[in-house]
Amino acid sequence: MIEVQHVKMVYPNGVGALNDISVSIEQSEFVFIVGASGAGKSTLIRLIGREFLPSSGSIRVFGKEITRLRRREVSMFRRSIGVVFQDFRLLDNHSIFDNVAFAMQVVGATPREVRRRVPESLEMVGLTGKAKMKPHELSGGEQQRVCLARAIINQPSLIIADEPTGNLDPKTSMEIMELLRTINIRGTTVMMATHDSEIVNKMKQRVIRLADGKIERDEQRGVYSHYAH
Ligand code: ADP
Repeated sequence: MIEVQHVKMVYPNGVGALNDISVSIEQSEFVFIVGASGAGKSTLIRLIGREFLPSSGSIRVFGKEITRLRRREVSMFRRSIGVVFQDFRLLDNHSIFDNVAFAMQVVGATPREVRRRVPESLEMVGLTGKAKMKPHELSGGEQQRVCLARAIINQPSLIIADEPTGNLDPKTSMEIMELLRTINIRGTTVMMATHDSEIVNKMKQRVIRLADGKIERDEQRGVYSHYAH
């Protein structure tokens, strides 16, 4: 599903973020990207989300070389995946319902489909009854649930998440992880950058560890680190 080959990323300011990364991720996998701050986790996630282009190398997602998409194809590609951020990025002047509905409207869903599917999606993440509220009226964990509802509303086969539990307490983080895992078990590939060792160790999924822009380790049912700290 994701095939990254010899990817290098040097930012315009000359900072090298990724140095010859090659990795492949199969359909329905759950993959953690771990590593110290500055290791390149976010850069890798954002390249796979086609936020920007690598300096060199190839990135194939769903069999398509996403480094060679035309502008229109880039928007289509971005809408075909679910994205979850650390800082939620909800529209604060709009209701929870609308925040999720917008993601459907941009792909041309009919009002009827929107009315049917948004409540289903909110139910899936445990937010039934909160549809009319505004994001600031919800807790951090609830806001992240809205983001998950928004990420899954168009039934993507891939979700990328960059530190989705970064602003949440440990208990709320585990609840979000359980939801992500449920989504994953239903068939969606999940790729998540995190530096939360407790979460990684509990989930027992594939762990790709980056260090200085390189893959240091890649293990099935991995742990955050072999070294105690
Ligand atoms: P991580 O997510 O593991 O903390 P990042 O991918 O954010 O790592 O960053 C990797 C390296 O790239 C760091 O040295 C960081 O300072 C640099 N970097 C990240 N984003 C940018 C940017 N937009 N412009 C310049 N350098 C960047």
